[in-house]
Amino acid sequence: MAEPTKTKIHKIVKYPEPVLLKKAEPVTVFDYSLRQLAEEMFATMYEARGIGLAAPQIAIPKQLTVIDVPNEKKPEDQLVLVNPEVIFTEGSQYEEEGCLSLADIREKVKRAAKVKVRAQNLSGEFFEVEGDTLLARCLLHEIDHLHGVLFIDRISRLKRELIVRQIRKLIKAGEW
Ligand code: ZN
Repeated sequence: MAEPTKTKIHKIVKYPEPVLLKKAEPVTVFDYSLRQLAEEMFATMYEARGIGLAAPQIAIPKQLTVIDVPNEKKPEDQLVLVNPEVIFTEGSQYEEEGCLSLADIREKVKRAAKVKVRAQNLSGEFFEVEGDTLLARCLLHEIDHLHGVLFIDRISRLKRELIVRQIRKLIKAGEW
């Protein structure tokens, strides 16, 4: 009897892995393997208990991100964004943020309160998505990943240096 196929869980890479620090390549082929990759990214994200995951975080330098922000209205609201672009922002919010590529490090980050994003779906069709509060933060965080930007690049230089120093120590101790 054939084994049921299990969705592949990828290893999430951590800062300062070079793939996290450079701009990802636009997706140009919308085929079965892209759909497969998105499915694997959801599985990887859920296992890590994240609400968003960008392809560079699993060492794939492509402009693809998956998001599933808890929403009381639509609990199963999965978003897949291919080649996303922020086309509108409004207001600001200042909340604590974390990242699967930065382990337990959390800092308050200033973000727009409301965003509108234009992206392609897995078939290559363009669509727009709007978000506020947590979804806006998540959209901006994930799109940053596709440009090689991490949330520690959006905090004060002093705080960033302290975090980087802390990470270097952890790497040396083999605890990162
Ligand atoms: Zn992140």
